[in-house]
Amino acid sequence: MGRYEIAIIGTGPAGLEAAITATVRNKKVLLLGSRESSLKVSKAHKIANYLGLPEIAGADLAAAYLKHIDAMGIQITEDKINAIYSMGDYFVLQGNENVMYEADAVILATGVVAGKPFPGEDENLGRGVSYCATCDAALYRGKSAVVIGYAPKEEPEAEFLAEIADKVTYLAMYPEETSFTRENVEVLRVKPLSIVRDGRMKLVTDQGEIESDGVFVLREAISPKQLVPGLATDGPHVTVDLQMKTNLPGCFACGDIAGTPYQYIKAAGQGNVAALSAVSYLDMKKRSGGK
Ligand SMILES: Cc1cc2nc3c(=O)[nH]c(=O)nc-3n(C[C@H](O)[C@H](O)[C@H](O)COP(=O)(O)OP(=O)(O)OC[C@H]3O[C@@H](n4cnc5c(N)ncnc54)[C@H](O)[C@@H]3O)c2cc1C
Repeated sequence: MGRYEIAIIGTGPAGLEAAITATVRNKKVLLLGSRESSLKVSKAHKIANYLGLPEIAGADLAAAYLKHIDAMGIQITEDKINAIYSMGDYFVLQGNENVMYEADAVILATGVVAGKPFPGEDENLGRGVSYCATCDAALYRGKSAVVIGYAPKEEPEAEFLAEIADKVTYLAMYPEETSFTRENVEVLRVKPLSIVRDGRMKLVTDQGEIESDGVFVLREAISPKQLVPGLATDGPHVTVDLQMKTNLPGCFACGDIAGTPYQYIKAAGQGNVAALSAVSYLDMKKRSGGK
């Protein structure tokens, strides 16, 4: 696979615009996310303030975005990134199923994480709390786990976990019917409140406690602090300057993750700035004798 020059995480307006700009500047780009995951775009009824496209429906804007990247030959690598590690001179990105990618620079365009982590979630991350069922499933052979799934697309992850674990309790946090085939998956419609580590893991819900060996929280986006160790944040947002630089050299952030207002045109504009800043960073590194 080799090392990419710029890895972009997120396929909303910020990430797509960053990918377009970086491609125009001839960089080797890895765009990670999903063709179908720009949900926030397709959900908008009508957008009134997008320059040049008055009263466009969200679904039409989403289709126009995809048409644009297809026309430029930009591929989306369908994967969810669970962790990004700065190695000093480059970054290692961990995808689902422990697939690893490398890039000289990264652009975070993952949107904003709705809601706060559950009490006990941050403290127990890596000690019974996980964000990636396919990465950690092997640890649950013959054990039990609770999965909190925020979208139907998380069901295959829970099903895979159930192939290895004895029992999976799946909390469906959405109204759609679930479609599990394995009998060792129990689906509950209860509200999680907190996570406690008391020998085993206890998930406290509005209808009692569920005991297990581990709790998987599968949200669309992972909070930036958990995604990139050492990243400076301000609440749910990454701290950036006007060039979309973060505190980590070579790491940039744009769109909702970089702060309010949450607007399409601002997200796309920041994606453009982040890509140009990443290009300058790479050029400077090259000039100063780096790779
Ligand atoms: C219902 C609704 C209506 C709205 N209406 C308007 C409007 O009329 N006008 C307006 O200007 N704005 C509107 N907004 C706000 C607008 O949707 C956001 O400001 C915009 O989508 C932000 O773009 P973004 O690229 O930063 O993030 P997002 O659009 O949230 O995209 C982030 C992407 O990153 C992906 N991702 C997240 N984490 C990972 C990971 N770890 N690995 C891989 N991929 C990941 C997500 O799946 C998602 O596709 C609306 C929002 C909603 C919810």
